[in-house]
Amino acid sequence: MANQFEVVVIGSGPAGYVAAIKAAQLGKKTAIIEKWVKKDGKTTWGGTCLNVGCIPSKALLQSSEMYAEANHGLDIHGIDVKSVKMDVSKMLARKDGIVDQLTTGIAGLLKGNGVTTLEGKGELKANKMVDVTKNDGSVETIQAENVILAMGSVPVDIPPTPLDGSVIVDSTGALEFPEVPKRLGVIGAGVIGLELGSVWSRLGSEVVVLEAMETFLAAADKAISKDAFKTFTKQGLDIRLGARVTGSKMKGKKVEVTFQDSEGEKTEVFDKLVVAVGRRPYTEGCLSTDCGVKLDERGFIFVDDQCRTTVPGVYAIGDVVRGPMLAHKGSEEGIMVAEIIAGHNAQMNYDAIPNVIYTHPEIAWVGKTEEELKADGVEYKSGAFPFAAIGRAQAANATDGQVKILADAKTDRVLGMHIFGMNASEMVAQGVIALEFASSAEDLQLTCFAHPTLSEAVHEAALAVDNMAIHKVNRKKR
Ligand code: FAD
Ligand code: AMP
Repeated sequence: MANQFEVVVIGSGPAGYVAAIKAAQLGKKTAIIEKWVKKDGKTTWGGTCLNVGCIPSKALLQSSEMYAEANHGLDIHGIDVKSVKMDVSKMLARKDGIVDQLTTGIAGLLKGNGVTTLEGKGELKANKMVDVTKNDGSVETIQAENVILAMGSVPVDIPPTPLDGSVIVDSTGALEFPEVPKRLGVIGAGVIGLELGSVWSRLGSEVVVLEAMETFLAAADKAISKDAFKTFTKQGLDIRLGARVTGSKMKGKKVEVTFQDSEGEKTEVFDKLVVAVGRRPYTEGCLSTDCGVKLDERGFIFVDDQCRTTVPGVYAIGDVVRGPMLAHKGSEEGIMVAEIIAGHNAQMNYDAIPNVIYTHPEIAWVGKTEEELKADGVEYKSGAFPFAAIGRAQAANATDGQVKILADAKTDRVLGMHIFGMNASEMVAQGVIALEFASSAEDLQLTCFAHPTLSEAVHEAALAVDNMAIHKVNRKKR
């Protein structure tokens, strides 16, 4: 029957669209439902990541990085550039073009793989029936053998700073400022706050980041976050730790923000304010009360290690379930679930998911931090190597940062790789492979790395784990 499918996916972000393509590739009759309608009235595919997340933010980070490099980074090479100007509208148009190209590409991939696309809002009902409410208000009911819930997440807003879409905005608004704000406030020094703060700071904005926690990037290895904090501060990002925002008041076209730190109550006035205090799972109006799917205490859909919900045949993946809110984590869960539905054995390694922060330089890591190993009582060895001692980093004028590797003291197994430095996002894949293949530090030590490359810092850090680094004096004699 036309309205019966073996797999129905709700949500076409990187979790949902990957799950749908994989299910179709495995021979399942698959449909995907998406409710996101662009300003032009057309449905857009690819979710937060492609429309207002990973991709547009990286487009702006690239443009702003090139502008900053042209302004401040060329003199050292002997290149004299007289006047560097930024056309913000052209930068935004380039970003929008990339988003258009990629979201259209997803629509093409879904079609090319034989996935039926349904435009509207999906709601899971009892017995794996799904209602699709179309934009014209009509409702189509479809019957699914299996349902994959992939509704993603939305930005968290906080009462002290209600969004007005113009001066006080969320991450989406911060991708669209028509001109560089003179003074920009960012609430939250998490990944999104740091990335978007960096974009506008590089373009000339005076950026103040207000972060409630006393610790900078608490999830990262301390050696790396300390290094990064120093570098970002030197770059001009004014990061105030222990500063909890408690209120805001409009002052003409500006906003006055009140925050509390160890010295008491303070205020700052900004031209624009970005609220980047995290994201929450989105389930409103997506699950009927009798559908049987349960949420956990934080509002995420409750799932087991293989993304099974409390209803047999209903799975949930991506930002709407526990775990890091990362595109690649959702995509891998999508592949796993499609495989399980097709009757294959599939499991995901949640211990080898890379984290990246696309600042300059970048921060990237995989596996355990030193602080986590200490807390878990694991005996470990540690080796670090600075980019300043790497020839290629000197040639690229990219000497900030280091690679740090942690290995089990008894088995030598690599437990974590932490990088602060240029191209860390690419280099961390070496750590992911090391963790996936259960490599020892010795495996990395015995590997031949091309010279001159930034990745030589990975090799040297692995050697340093056993005090065998060549291009620095080791802490201990062997
Ligand atoms: P989403 O991408 O949120 O997609 C969910 C989709 O489901 C949406 O299209 C929504 O419209 C649709 N939907 C919801 N409910 C329904 C319904 N009932 N019916 C039909 N459709 C529905 N992650 C990274 O890994 N790397 C990055 O560099 C990165 N940068 C980011 C930068 C920013 C500014 C932001 C905001 C996020 C960033 N992220 C990044 C996070 C990443 O975007 C998310 O982790 C990822 O998009 C989650 O994928 P998802 O498929 O679970 O959900
Ligand atoms: P993330 O969840 O990684 O996106 O980071 C969001 C950050 O916002 C966290 O580090 C929070 O501590 C921070 N945060 C949340 N609420 C406030 C607030 N009222 N004032 C300042 N920072 C906040």
